[in-house]
Amino acid sequence: MPDVDILVVGAGPAGAVAAWQAKLAAPELDVVLLERDRAVGAPVRCAEGVGDAGLREFANPDGADWVSRRITDVILESPDDTQVVLANSGIGWILDRTRFDAYLAAQAAAAGAAVLVGAEATAMSRNGDERWHVRVTERGREDLYRARIVIGADGVETMVGRWAGLDTRVPARDMESCAQYVLQGIDFNPNAIYLQFSNAIAPGGYAWIFPKGVGIANVGLGLVALKTNGHNARQYLDDWVARRFPSGVRTGYTVGGVIVHTTIKKTYADGVLVAGDAAHMINPLSGGGINNAMKAGRLAGCTAAAALREHDTTERRLASYHKAWMEVLGEDHLKYYRLKQALEHMDDAFLNSLARTVNKVVPEKRTLGRVLTHAMIKHPLLIPVVARFFV
Ligand SMILES: Cc1cc2nc3c(=O)[nH]c(=O)nc-3n(C[C@H](O)[C@H](O)[C@H](O)COP(=O)(O)OP(=O)(O)OC[C@H]3O[C@@H](n4cnc5c(N)ncnc54)[C@H](O)[C@@H]3O)c2cc1C
Repeated sequence: MPDVDILVVGAGPAGAVAAWQAKLAAPELDVVLLERDRAVGAPVRCAEGVGDAGLREFANPDGADWVSRRITDVILESPDDTQVVLANSGIGWILDRTRFDAYLAAQAAAAGAAVLVGAEATAMSRNGDERWHVRVTERGREDLYRARIVIGADGVETMVGRWAGLDTRVPARDMESCAQYVLQGIDFNPNAIYLQFSNAIAPGGYAWIFPKGVGIANVGLGLVALKTNGHNARQYLDDWVARRFPSGVRTGYTVGGVIVHTTIKKTYADGVLVAGDAAHMINPLSGGGINNAMKAGRLAGCTAAAALREHDTTERRLASYHKAWMEVLGEDHLKYYRLKQALEHMDDAFLNSLARTVNKVVPEKRTLGRVLTHAMIKHPLLIPVVARFFV
């Protein structure tokens, strides 16, 4: 029975950073990072966009081989295709997540963590022991790990939280279904991300074009199933793509869920921390979760390392993780969530008029700050719509 100090379940951004930072904080600890898929970072279920500042807290994107594209512009689109081009909208990046997630896992390995691929945690119990017993299936073999702390970074379908008795349920109205193609041979500005808002195109969510290169983009949408006409996300996407890019060549397809909720009430238990999507640590307005997951992973890894050094892995000790997360981003997400609820009342006619109003500002002065000020006067509801990107 392998004995480890920290067992991290899931090698996405949250898990890889948790393992990496735990080893940096306490190199003497045994840290194991498990990934059930056969490769870290694949398959990609993501549009791969991140803001510059958040990313740079963990990795330098300049010249990195895990970057697909540098983004300098944001184009918002209303239901009738009116474009609002934001000036000076800041820098963002479209990652190559296959490489990026692998890069983060390699950082964890370089710091001394063991990284196991094709290794799935299938059950977890305590049975009176102060360590967790985690059943792990790897290449048809089953091992039982004993871990002083388990970090659940196992994404939207998390089981670790449930095994530890945490409430990770998601209300149906806060679960977005997403569908995305990689489209080739299409015409758009490769330095811009496009976001289109319309209840007819993507009810309860939005549609996006995130450039991977010249003529190549992640083209997708997310919607709330409860608000649809009975069609699924792929059918909505097919309709949108047929209209926007009828001759685009589909070279990739993915589906996935995004939890647009707020952080779960309790992210810790005796010997357990949950981080990233597993704890609903996603921006509920944008659905962006990569930078959030890394920030949560860092907090989880450092909290676990400190608790182990103090020989105290009780939930009382680990509660500091939740408190720190709420201060870093969790409280903001509660505010964004309330704004999301307010935005749900905007219909397509309002969105069209809003775009026209904003376009009355001269283009070179159509900065985010200007647009926000303008919008605040005329249409207070616009503020969160614009502010939600690049967080
Ligand atoms: C279509 C789509 C588009 C998106 N676009 C963006 C975007 O543009 N920008 C952005 O910031 N966010 C985006 N997101 C959200 C983003 O992908 C997630 O927030 C982010 O990946 C969360 O990281 P994580 O480490 O918490 O979870 P994940 O990246 O999901 O990683 C969890 C890992 O755990 C593994 N795992 C699960 N269970 C087990 C187990 N039992 N044992 C071992 N391993 C396990 C999984 O295989 C997975 O590799 C998008 C999501 C979707 C679905």
